[in-house]
Amino acid sequence: MARRTKIIATIGPASESEPVLRDLVRAGMDVARLGMAHSSLEENAGRLAMIRRIAAEEGRSVGILVDLTGPKVRAASFGDDPVEFVEGEGVELQIGRNLSGPAVIEVDYEAFFRDVEPGSRTSIGDGRVILQLGEQDGDRMPATVIHGGVLSGRPGVHIPADRLSLSAPTPEDLRAVEFFLEYEVDMIAPSFIRSADDLDRLGTLPHPHGPLVVAKIETAAALDDLSRIIGKSGAVMVARGDLGNECGIEALPVFQKEIIRQCISLGRPAITATQMFESMIDGPEPTRAEVSDVANAIWDGSSAVMLSGETAVGIDPVNVVATMARVALHADNNFDHRGWSTELAESRLTDADDPNTSITDAMTVATARAVEELGIRTIVCVSGSGFTVRSMARFRPSARILGYSTDERTVRQLSLSWGTEPFHLPEDGTVDLRVAEALDLCRKQAGVPAGELVAVLAGTDSRSRATNELRLERVPDPA
Ligand code: PEP
Repeated sequence: MARRTKIIATIGPASESEPVLRDLVRAGMDVARLGMAHSSLEENAGRLAMIRRIAAEEGRSVGILVDLTGPKVRAASFGDDPVEFVEGEGVELQIGRNLSGPAVIEVDYEAFFRDVEPGSRTSIGDGRVILQLGEQDGDRMPATVIHGGVLSGRPGVHIPADRLSLSAPTPEDLRAVEFFLEYEVDMIAPSFIRSADDLDRLGTLPHPHGPLVVAKIETAAALDDLSRIIGKSGAVMVARGDLGNECGIEALPVFQKEIIRQCISLGRPAITATQMFESMIDGPEPTRAEVSDVANAIWDGSSAVMLSGETAVGIDPVNVVATMARVALHADNNFDHRGWSTELAESRLTDADDPNTSITDAMTVATARAVEELGIRTIVCVSGSGFTVRSMARFRPSARILGYSTDERTVRQLSLSWGTEPFHLPEDGTVDLRVAEALDLCRKQAGVPAGELVAVLAGTDSRSRATNELRLERVPDPA
């Protein structure tokens, strides 16, 4: 069985060249994540174009996720050489964007001294270094290192979201959204949202006419508004780096499971992110604990696992993706499909505002059962927005899921959907025509043999979200 869990790789200096990008696609990158913090919109647009060209040349569907910076406060660059901070030593913080070093860390946020509380602790670089802050003294704030470590690049400086005067999305985020809409970007991930209303402020059309909005859960306030946020988003990211700063690292495993559980019951892909293979930034192999973390995130129900610094600045991004693909495949092969699907049939996908949801829920429950009872090996989903495919994927069937859509952007958005092999359906038309075409293509493109019994899920109207047809059909012989 091929790998079912999707891999997201963050593109950065270590992975932005054409040969490395091509090898990342070959190694199994399903979605490329472009961060806005470190390069210009135009540079990122160049990467987007290159990834799309390589994916087309390789015959692969690779989604592009634009990760908006949000009100993320960062230290100015530490230059070419990483700097080690030792517990007990002093360091000063200053507002600036030029250069950070062992004696002075510059912070790129004018209101930093106003927003932080003297005497509180702040984490730099997702917990790599923890500082105890002193009283502001003129244009500086002294601090003591209470947890030492090495900092490099432009690490984030954590300010609790409830003290931060900035809100998400920022004006820069909105400029980036407008810019990338021109490129029909597949997914947009707003950072540091605090409520579902922050998602409305992005002003994008619902997918597939607009990008799939991936809500990053990384503030304590977002946890309080979780079900509304999931309901308004297309997918969700458990952004463990900043979430760990906000809620305490010991609470992370519980929140990870709860966020994923709610995503599953609403048919939204969940991405588990950050420090998955952190040790591979400068090492050849993940730790045993990291391998277990990835497998457990998959068994929790993650649709995708994400790599950050490992592929953006690590020593060997291709090895990282190849290793992740191996670990995910093994976890997928040991997934308890039957137990999962039985439990899920009890938690219904319902949305009081959208009656179509319960139709899709009933149809996907029926499909999961038919597939199990008849030993069907392939589910063909013909979908407009991708909702049917994502709803089917939440059952984690052992059968292949082939996701067909006439909308090119939906096809790229399906690169995030668990277990889904995305395909473009060239012709729109009646449900009979679309189903016949998908059955023909599943033989030609996906290697399903003629005569095999498959389950086909489709909606009578290609534009409606309701999946109201389930057919059990044999793949026809070539005409
Ligand atoms: C995170 O905080 O875990 C995360 C994914 O966000 P970023 O990498 O943008 O800080």
